[in-house]
Amino acid sequence: MNAALLADKVAFVTGATRGIGLATAQAFAAAGAIVAMGGRNLANIKAAMEQVLQFCPGARLLPVVCDVGQEQDTKLAFQIIFREFKRLDVFVANAGILGDGLLGMVTRQQIVTVFSTNVFGAFHGAQYASRLMARHGGGSMIFLSSIMGTQGSAGQSVYSGSKAAIIGLVKSLAKELAPKNIRVNCIAPGFIDTDMTRSIPADKFAERAASIPMGRIGRPDEVANVSLFLASDLSGYVTGQVLGVDGGMLI
Ligand code: NAD
Repeated sequence: MNAALLADKVAFVTGATRGIGLATAQAFAAAGAIVAMGGRNLANIKAAMEQVLQFCPGARLLPVVCDVGQEQDTKLAFQIIFREFKRLDVFVANAGILGDGLLGMVTRQQIVTVFSTNVFGAFHGAQYASRLMARHGGGSMIFLSSIMGTQGSAGQSVYSGSKAAIIGLVKSLAKELAPKNIRVNCIAPGFIDTDMTRSIPADKFAERAASIPMGRIGRPDEVANVSLFLASDLSGYVTGQVLGVDGGMLI
């Protein structure tokens, strides 16, 4: 890993205790960033920090307890980051949950729960992140959408709707924040090997895995490396984009 890519940049990754978020924290730390690792449970964050430190000894990490579905948590998280570092260069709105169900079975509570985390969480994170970034001349925001946000999926209207909302949010913010030198992009992963995908029924898992042109499910670090590109100056003229990381699922 090129340790200069994010040298001394301050990054905040939500939902960094496992899966894509943890891999992103690892990739950023290895690239020289100071990483605030978000999660709902301090013990889980500390366990994740241990994993990052094993991967990247000497990594500079800050645990930040933050349920992104709670605006007050998000506000406090950014206050902590400001108190510690006085700046924020990179924000990754990664925390996300599924909420599957056929339309007739979907409850209002299910919609509220999924949108609170996947959409409201991302929205409020963007609000607080933009204020910190603007103070220091700019930054990069990265949002985790999904191929479900562009293609939809039967039985996943709530999740797909939440991930489609992220794309509209990203494109609008990219336009709104460009004058402040804040780039805003999103990643649309396909089928990545994490607890989230392991939670779906085995037959659906096999069916989806078989539909990938590259013939294999993706790894969390393969998504993290795209986040690293979007976080760094390598993508300095890239904003408002939806980057697929899907092994060709959408070709
Ligand atoms: P995961 O379930 O393995 O990890 C999600 C992380 O988010 C966990 O650390 C979890 O504790 C955290 N989280 C959940 N709700 C939270 C909340 N309210 N506040 C704070 N943290 C919360 O999932 P993953 O596969 O690593 O997914 C990461 C992101 O990528 C999600 O936004 C997901 O929708 C998206 N995504 C994943 C895939 C995939 O195939 N795995 C595909 C497309 C999009």
